[in-house]
Amino acid sequence: MANLLWLQGGACSGNTMSFLNAEEPSVCDLVTDFGINILWHPSLSEEIGSAVTDKIKACINGEIKLDIFVFEGTVINGPDGSGEWNRFGGRPMKDWVNDLADVASYVVAVGDCASWGGIPATAPNPTDSEGLQFLKKRPGGALGTDYRSKAGLPVINIPGCPAHPDWISQILVAIATGRASEITLDDLQRPKTFFTSFTQTGCTRNMHFSYKVAATEFGQRKGCLFYDLGCRGPMTRSSCNRILWNRQASKTRVGMPCLGCTEPEFPFFDLAPGTVFKSQTVMGFPKDLPTGLDKVGYMKLTAAAKQAAPQWAEDDIFTV
Ligand code: SF4
Ligand code: SF4
Repeated sequence: MANLLWLQGGACSGNTMSFLNAEEPSVCDLVTDFGINILWHPSLSEEIGSAVTDKIKACINGEIKLDIFVFEGTVINGPDGSGEWNRFGGRPMKDWVNDLADVASYVVAVGDCASWGGIPATAPNPTDSEGLQFLKKRPGGALGTDYRSKAGLPVINIPGCPAHPDWISQILVAIATGRASEITLDDLQRPKTFFTSFTQTGCTRNMHFSYKVAATEFGQRKGCLFYDLGCRGPMTRSSCNRILWNRQASKTRVGMPCLGCTEPEFPFFDLAPGTVFKSQTVMGFPKDLPTGLDKVGYMKLTAAAKQAAPQWAEDDIFTV
């Protein structure tokens, strides 16, 4: 049995909504098949008021073993470092977070906000928000760079806006079943199993990417969404085209560019708000190239590929 406590800071509850749609395994499976005991969750639990805070205090003083502490949303420090803009159970949420992180065997940050601050921490960051161990790309965050949970791990970041439900439920199962040692993390503390390949891996538009055939409108069945619509699939690490959403689709499969939501720069990158990718080109070539490409080589390749594109790449029959 693994005790799990889930709290929310500066959050929209989007990751909770996503989590409740998990299918492999589902939230019910976590409880019935994988031995997770949900001590309290803001959307799933009935207790309110002191019944909740008493349980949390029991975790902090060691009466209840806290195996997994899940945090959703930003840690809010405003105003002036007090955290008073996000009070919970009679004190700033950031104080609960620090106390619980001290006693938890594992700490899991769910979603961009908990991982690195997300949208609320974007400049000018009026609430002085940050993630548990990052502020955007900068290590540190609310718990500091050196933080390690009781089991010796840093915070496990499961980013996304929201995170895919099965990314969350599968990591929780790995911890609950004693396989946490198999979770290897990248330099942003994301589980490599979900965040090593790019969103582009498995995208049904890869042939259009290769032949530089561009989709020009959202929802268009034909064409790659990179050239005119700014898809960030080639520079975003996620498994959205390998582990499909709702078991059937992804953004790019339905004609919506990847927005790069699993990266700390999300949502603004270097684009001015309101601009589309096409306005960020130099002589018709995108300024922001797929990761690892040489610019001159890419320009030559693009010219050749456009010339070589066969008719089938131009036909509207390939994407679903
Ligand atoms: S639509 Fe996006 S993810 Fe798919 S091939 Fe084009 S750039 Fe890559
Ligand atoms: S396709 Fe891109 S923007 Fe959409 S959920 Fe996946 S990583 Fe995020």
